[in-house]
Amino acid sequence: MKNITILGSTGSIGTSALKVIEAKKEEFNVLGISGYSNFELLKEQIEKFNPKYICIGDENKAKELESIYPEKIIYFGDEGLKTMGALDEADIVLTAISGAVGIEATVEAIKKEKRIALANKETMVAAGEYINKLLKDYPKAEIIPVDSEHSALFQSMQGSSKDEVKTLIITASGGTFRGKKLEELKDVTVEQALKHPNWSMGRKITIDSSTLVNKGLEVIEAHMLFNIDYDNIEVLVHPQSIIHSMVEFEDSSIIAQIGVPDMKLPIQYAFTYPKREASSELERLNLRKLKELTFDEVDSEVFKGVDLAFKAGRTGKTMPCVFNSANEVAVELFLKGKIKFLEIYEIIEKAMQQHEVKEIDSLEVIKDVDKETRKWVYSNYARD
Ligand code: NAD
Ligand code: MG
Repeated sequence: MKNITILGSTGSIGTSALKVIEAKKEEFNVLGISGYSNFELLKEQIEKFNPKYICIGDENKAKELESIYPEKIIYFGDEGLKTMGALDEADIVLTAISGAVGIEATVEAIKKEKRIALANKETMVAAGEYINKLLKDYPKAEIIPVDSEHSALFQSMQGSSKDEVKTLIITASGGTFRGKKLEELKDVTVEQALKHPNWSMGRKITIDSSTLVNKGLEVIEAHMLFNIDYDNIEVLVHPQSIIHSMVEFEDSSIIAQIGVPDMKLPIQYAFTYPKREASSELERLNLRKLKELTFDEVDSEVFKGVDLAFKAGRTGKTMPCVFNSANEVAVELFLKGKIKFLEIYEIIEKAMQQHEVKEIDSLEVIKDVDKETRKWVYSNYARD
């Protein structure tokens, strides 16, 4: 039996993970779950999966949970999340929180040498350099990617060594505004931006997909996870989202991972790796029903998210953290109707311009840069 902690169990990835686990009850046990504000769903999950540990955002809600479930161990807030990342009985920690708030819990899980099933890409972007150093100190800890593109790259590289890899080819659906011109994006609404053609996901990542900042985050994530130079990472628009990503090798062979667009496979693979297992939850791809697989370049004149990420990634050190933090606040402001869609790019670009790059010699440096960047964006763009 493998014990799994799910950080962010009430979200899109979290609920998919619980379906994966439910279909394999004989193999996986839910040790701990964490939610932020969705109290009712968290309670439903407690009833159904009977986890020993629970974490919620707010102290009062934690007290309420304690009175309903006196036999459970209940934590709250950021400290609670850190504790949840470090539970001794856990075999696997799934980081399915949205945003850089997941960094510290991931760090704790590494220090306890857990397997981390990493969905929370913002952690790998903002703190990748720090995390990679930490992984050297805790060699038994392992990060298995859950992000579909990175799971695809990881799967495609099985049995190969890094020096055989020529190019990582990350596919992008192109998002909900694929094919649109700048002029057409000036006044798009939150509702329009939240309609993703192929994937059903949380609000933040859905906006990131529409700006292609998500693809930018994924470029940096790929660099951090696989230690491949930015010159050898490419983004290719593939609107059908059937090829989840590909690796081109030195001998010209390209290996791709393909399947239906469903996060349950990459989640399960991160749990069962290196094994592959059947599950009633996993739908098979019917190749006969596929009409076409097409590929295109990113329109980087319109969708600046990818180029800005390459720039931040190549600068390195604290710049990817700035890219991520500025985007997190920009998306929050866009969702609240305080800024326009295209201002998301402006905010990221200007936040990067005003930042003085620093060496990352401790986690504090990242926490400070994250805080400063958020403050800078709020004070310049959070108009009433
Ligand atoms: P979501 O918004 O649906 O869920 C986020 C989860 O994090 C929720 O459980 C929420 O309660 C929790 N959370 C939010 N803010 C928190 C805070 N301040 N403190 C503690 N917990 C907090 O998001 P999602 O779509 O499931 O995405 C989760 C992560 O996985 C993100 O990093 C995203 O980029 C990544 N990801 C998601 C998908 C997808 O298909 N949804 C695919 C690839 C990668
Ligand atoms: Mg992805």
